[in-house]
Amino acid sequence: MEDTYKHKGLRKQLVKEIANKGITNKNVLAAIGKVPRHFFFERIFDAHAYEDKAFPIDLGQTISQPFTVAFQSEKLNVKAGQKVLEIGTGSGYQACVLIELGAEVYTVEYHKKLYRKAIRLLPAMGYQPHMYHGDGSKGLPQFAPYDRIIVTAGASDVPVELIEQLRVGGLLVIPVGSKALQSMLVVEKISENKVRGEAHDHFRFVPLLGERGRSAQAGTGKFLTIEHDEDKKMP
Ligand code: SAH
Repeated sequence: MEDTYKHKGLRKQLVKEIANKGITNKNVLAAIGKVPRHFFFERIFDAHAYEDKAFPIDLGQTISQPFTVAFQSEKLNVKAGQKVLEIGTGSGYQACVLIELGAEVYTVEYHKKLYRKAIRLLPAMGYQPHMYHGDGSKGLPQFAPYDRIIVTAGASDVPVELIEQLRVGGLLVIPVGSKALQSMLVVEKISENKVRGEAHDHFRFVPLLGERGRSAQAGTGKFLTIEHDEDKKMP
C-alpha cells in the first residue's frame, strides 16, 4: 500500500469538494485530508476512493460517502482525548477519521468478516481503535460512559441503551427513519434523565442490524456475543 502524490492530490480535491458542500470544521477537513481512503479499496477500484461517493465493501455493506463521514464527524463535535463509541466499523474509515480528530475510539462491527478485515488493516495503517465484533445496537456497556456515540447504520429508533451509555453533556449522532431515508439526529444528554435532539438533512444508510436494529433477525432473540481482540482483555 502506497500513498503517492497522485493520491494526495486527489485527496486534496476531495477535501475541497466536501468543503464546497458545506463542511466548515477545519479539524474535520484536515482529518479527511489525512486518512488515505484508497487503502480501504481493492487496487483495481483505487480511482474511486477519492470520489465523494459511498462504495460497496463486502457482505452488502458500504464505506460511507466522504461527505457523510465529514457531516457526522462535524455534528459529533469531537474534542481531543474524548472517548468515542462507533456502532458499525464497516471498513474502518470513519474510525480512522475519529482517531485523526484525537478521539479514543471504541468501534463495534456486526459482521465477523468485516471485523477481521479491519483488525488487520487499521493497525497496519497506524490506527489503533479498540475493535469488537458483535451486536452494537445496544452499545458497548463494558466501557461506558462515552463522551460521544456515532451510529453509522440506519436505525428505526434511538436505542435507549445508547443514551444510557452516554456521559451527561455527551452527544449521540444517529441516522433514524425509514429503511429508504433517515434524518441525522443529534441527541445531547443534558442530564441523567433528559435529552435534547435536533434533526438534520436526509441520508441513506445500510440498516442497523441486531436486537435494536431493523433486520430480519431482530426480535428472534439472535444475539452475537461481543468478542474481544486477542490481545485485549474484557473487564
Ligand atoms: N463506518 C463505516 C460505515 C459502514 S456501513 C465506514 O466508515 O466504512 C455500516 C456498518 O454497520 C456495516 O458494516 C454493518 O455491518 C454495521 N452494522 C450494522 N448493524 C450493526 C450492529 N447492530 N452492530 C454493529 N455493527 C453493525
